[in-house]
Amino acid sequence: MESPILQVENLTKVYTLGGYPLTVLRGISLSVKVGDFVALMGPSGSGKSTLLNILGCLDRPTSGSYHLGEEDVSIMSDDQLSDIRCRYLGFIFQQYNLLPQYTVVENIEVPLIYQGAKIDEKTKSRCESLANLVGLGDRLDHRPMQLSGGQQQRVAIARSLANAPSLILADEPTGNLDSSTSVEIMSLLRILNSMGKTIVMVTHENDIAAWSKRILRMRDGQIESDTPNTPIPIPTGLRLIDPDVLTNIVGGI
Ligand code: ADP
Ligand code: MG
Repeated sequence: MESPILQVENLTKVYTLGGYPLTVLRGISLSVKVGDFVALMGPSGSGKSTLLNILGCLDRPTSGSYHLGEEDVSIMSDDQLSDIRCRYLGFIFQQYNLLPQYTVVENIEVPLIYQGAKIDEKTKSRCESLANLVGLGDRLDHRPMQLSGGQQQRVAIARSLANAPSLILADEPTGNLDSSTSVEIMSLLRILNSMGKTIVMVTHENDIAAWSKRILRMRDGQIESDTPNTPIPIPTGLRLIDPDVLTNIVGGI
């Protein structure tokens, strides 16, 4: 459990804005171990999303290196990056980003479609299990509009697990949710982390970072502090995950 899942060295990101360079990341070095749960904090504009997008291979650094597992991601082509995203990464966004015309199960299938997998009874049943896992077994054919915000984010979490990613990246996953729903979502992320999923999550709320194991604070494109945290324990009595479902697919999430 001690090997790094990702390692970045002296990463910078410079945007060009109106012909002028805008330096957003100024030499970030960071290593995240398998099984960690990192909260990336900092004021608005400090570069959190930019860093998360680079970690998620959705954007490239201007300079510096980035290794994901054994792979040197910083030298990869766009096609190779999209292949890495499909194989290794799961994404959760503040706005859920579900496809409105798709059902719950179809939304969960999306990463498998990106991967080029054939959607058959086996993949369908896996996605139904993931819907069960996040407590939506009775909503399989619902569309996003028929669900609450918390339920939609649970669909997004199930979707992030579809390709059995090594690393989950979440940008303000509770940013649109009330506090009791946020507790549900964070409990779910904590459970997934306790099952071995590595998570890097952006948040600007202390209450949310309190669920993580390590808090990184950014300021002006640099890491200002990096402190271990004793996470909030997983609440008991929350019926979010069906234990039978869990044992069935535990190896495969
Ligand atoms: P945070 O997530 O911490 O609020 P961001 O990483 O979104 O910060 O943004 C950091 C800075 O980079 C901001 O000043 C923002 O305006 C700028 N920025 C982000 N994306 C772009 C872009 N595509 N082009 C130019 N500037 C950008
Ligand atoms: Mg942001």
